[in-house]
Amino acid sequence: MSAVAMDFLQKYAPVVADQFVTMNSTQAQNTLYGDVNLESLNWLERTWASYYIWMGNPVLATGLMSFLLHEIVYFGRAIPWLIIDAIPYFHQWKIQPDKHITKEQIWKCTKVVLITHFTCELPLIYLFHPICCYFGMATYEVPFSSIGLMAAQIAFFFVFEDTFHYWAHRGLHYGPFYKNIHKLHHEFSAPIGLAAEYAHPLEVLILAQGTISGPFLYCLFRKDLHILTVYIWITLRLWQAVDAHSGYDFPWSLRHIIPFWAGADHHDYHHMAFTNCFSTSFRWWDFSLGTDSKYHAYKKRLAAAKANQRAKIEQEENERAIQEGLEAERLVLMGGPNKIEKIKIGSGKKQ
Ligand SMILES: [Zn+2]
Ligand SMILES: [Zn+2]
Repeated sequence: MSAVAMDFLQKYAPVVADQFVTMNSTQAQNTLYGDVNLESLNWLERTWASYYIWMGNPVLATGLMSFLLHEIVYFGRAIPWLIIDAIPYFHQWKIQPDKHITKEQIWKCTKVVLITHFTCELPLIYLFHPICCYFGMATYEVPFSSIGLMAAQIAFFFVFEDTFHYWAHRGLHYGPFYKNIHKLHHEFSAPIGLAAEYAHPLEVLILAQGTISGPFLYCLFRKDLHILTVYIWITLRLWQAVDAHSGYDFPWSLRHIIPFWAGADHHDYHHMAFTNCFSTSFRWWDFSLGTDSKYHAYKKRLAAAKANQRAKIEQEENERAIQEGLEAERLVLMGGPNKIEKIKIGSGKKQ
């Protein structure tokens, strides 16, 4: 960091400025953990403290850990879905069984995701630690929060993100925003796990606000949030996002256990039909505002199909949803939200 920037920070935000200084291990231990009896802590907390002491620079330590966490969790969750998709046995639970992804599509998707991660997210992640300090979130500090407090905070982040995402996502379907930003994400009418972050960099930045603003908003009211809790939240959120794009709905999928959990079944329909199902984790916003009526009509028709005709009916229904989706997308690209109202969902018919 330049001397001018450092002087500015030391003058106006000394707490943040302290975090940019690189220390040797003795300095780091004294500065970061002077009063803390590390021996009294559990293994994970001691390892956490050792990592920050070893790095000697909290900004770099948090930045590196945040970036690696994101890459490991994202690809660690997305790659198993590619393996599952390559095993024919699992195709019985594929939501759009006739759609198959090509190697070129996988490679293109990987490239776009990696470029966004390295050019857009990496520089921002470097700022994560100073921003956390600014809002009063604990980073290098130990001990961690209790399990009960973590669970309550994560529950709040889930509800906040789902609400934020629902409205931001509906906004992204508005003509100019769709055309210039969200269209890229809809290239996959039958998505794969890897495509969860296959999106325009602006979309990644906008929708990421739902994930990280919840913790910062929380910090405005309470000063008991630890970054480890935020890491657990981000891990769960990434799993949710990747799974929602997996294209598979198993009998043991979470939505069969928690009825208001959206799951892949919900978001896959959004990609297939273009309209309906705008939320991420939960179903209540779409249900309350009627933006899932077409989805429910589709599910009802599938459920009514006789067992020996189910595969045929499913194929016809999926094809119909895709055609309607293409038409809805065309109208948004042509003229914005007024025209899309004309094919407004509910009856499942174009008007
Ligand atoms: Zn969309
Ligand atoms: Zn999606």
